[in-house]
Amino acid sequence: MSLKVAIIGRPNVGKSTLFNRLVGKKLALVDDQPGVTRDRRYGRARLGHMGFDIIDTAGLEEAFDDSIEGKMRQQSEMAFEECDIAFFLIDARAGLTPLDNHFADWLRKRKKPVYVIANKHEGRDQDAGLYEAYGLGLGDVAPISAEHGLGMELLIDIMRPHWEEYRDKQRKARKEGDIAAIDDDFEDDEMDEDDGSFPSFEIEYDEDDEGEEEVVRKDNSKIQLAIVGRPNVGKSTLLNQLLGENRVMTGPQAGLTRDSIAVDWSYEGRPIRLVDTAGMRRKKKIDDRVEKLSVTDTLRVIRYAQVVVIMLDATNTLDKQDLTIARMVLEEGRALIIAVNKWDAVKDKSGVMSALRDKLDTSFAQAKGIPILTFSALTGRGTDTLMPTVLDIYDIWSRRIPTSQLNRWLEAITERHLPPVISGRRIRLRYMTQAKSRPPSFFINCSKAAELPESYTRYLINGLREDFDMPGVPIRIYLRSSD
Ligand code: GDP
Ligand code: GDP
Repeated sequence: MSLKVAIIGRPNVGKSTLFNRLVGKKLALVDDQPGVTRDRRYGRARLGHMGFDIIDTAGLEEAFDDSIEGKMRQQSEMAFEECDIAFFLIDARAGLTPLDNHFADWLRKRKKPVYVIANKHEGRDQDAGLYEAYGLGLGDVAPISAEHGLGMELLIDIMRPHWEEYRDKQRKARKEGDIAAIDDDFEDDEMDEDDGSFPSFEIEYDEDDEGEEEVVRKDNSKIQLAIVGRPNVGKSTLLNQLLGENRVMTGPQAGLTRDSIAVDWSYEGRPIRLVDTAGMRRKKKIDDRVEKLSVTDTLRVIRYAQVVVIMLDATNTLDKQDLTIARMVLEEGRALIIAVNKWDAVKDKSGVMSALRDKLDTSFAQAKGIPILTFSALTGRGTDTLMPTVLDIYDIWSRRIPTSQLNRWLEAITERHLPPVISGRRIRLRYMTQAKSRPPSFFINCSKAAELPESYTRYLINGLREDFDMPGVPIRIYLRSSD
């Protein structure tokens, strides 16, 4: 047995190209497995430190009848039956075709995990398919370029939980000597080799400890930081301030567009990766400087980042586009900081500041307390507040709250303001636990979950934010009914 991924999709979307990239040159292809269609290709794939089997369905389409359904069904079924996880490839440049939609309809009915991958996404003007793909109802879409090796870290993120689950099963099988379950190809020993590209976030807390400092952070993972903003707000100037002589250009990173750059550096011993910050790019033609901040580019950057700084020009703050980007940052679950530059050029500082605060708090009730910094990148005055704020908000974003505390809190807050009565019975919130961090996300077990008004969920979110001191980060609550 092994962990198997099938690459599924219509002809020409790039399945073979992705297969070849994941299998790499040094790993042999296994073409003639007994008992399987000879057109199917099997390989041992590698993503980061994770090894798994991969099945390519390319070439099969020729073998079957011409009807859309026929192609789709026969091509996919065999591979899908065998796999644990499916990568459903579409062509981001070409957009969706009827065949893609048929695949999606079919896949949607299956129980196995399916991930939509938008291939041939190398940059601007190649987004048609990416956005359409969100409409497929198969969840998040990962933009990649198999040919250029871009977006591989998105695939790593997709695989990681599955691989870890599989690893745990393998460990158990080995420990228990369950020979039938042991996968000889599985390599566990590389686990300890941290190449720096994986967050090594570890948290320790003691549920029984009633003491105040229940969370011990041992976090030295790399923080992925993006600084975005319209042209001319002063991004380049700020970067030169921040990086100074320590500037280390590491060249294009996998997953970013070819003309974008990531910079690795460290702040007070903490590794930081600045992702795709427009100001780091070569200045383009003058014409480009008046171009708007592209929403699609920005969305991609946000996906790579954990903390996003939106930089504004104090003499021209927070227009509709800035608000749109801020909303995207929060919707994507990232931590947000607003940095107002050119503060030296502002006369009515308190007026500008209070207008900004108002606008942010009314626009983003779901993330009250977004940090607002003001500085002058040109003179350097105030820029020293940026990195401490980044570290702080990253910590809040990564916060974990022990279940015992959450349940005491839940009891108190529901007593302070009782949940509504629905057809004669009061909704009961029974139990709460933190599902994950980054951003802080909570499950609440609740009677009649579907009927709890949104205003009540907002009340809970605001309460969590205040009582556990989590300003400025998105907080999510998932309600589950057990009856
Ligand atoms: P398959 O039929 O789905 O296996 O597709 P192939 O892997 O044979 O690729 C079909 C065509 O798309 C080939 O010409 C590839 O070179 C091209 N292709 C594959 N991946 C990419 C990509 O990431 N970007 C671009 N621009 N072309 C790609
Ligand atoms: P980018 O396009 O966002 O990278 O912006 P630049 O860093 O190229 O800055 C655009 C212009 O704003 C340049 O003329 C800078 O000198 C100017 N600028 C940047 N920061 C400040 C600042 O703090 N105060 C003032 N007055 N001008 C600034």
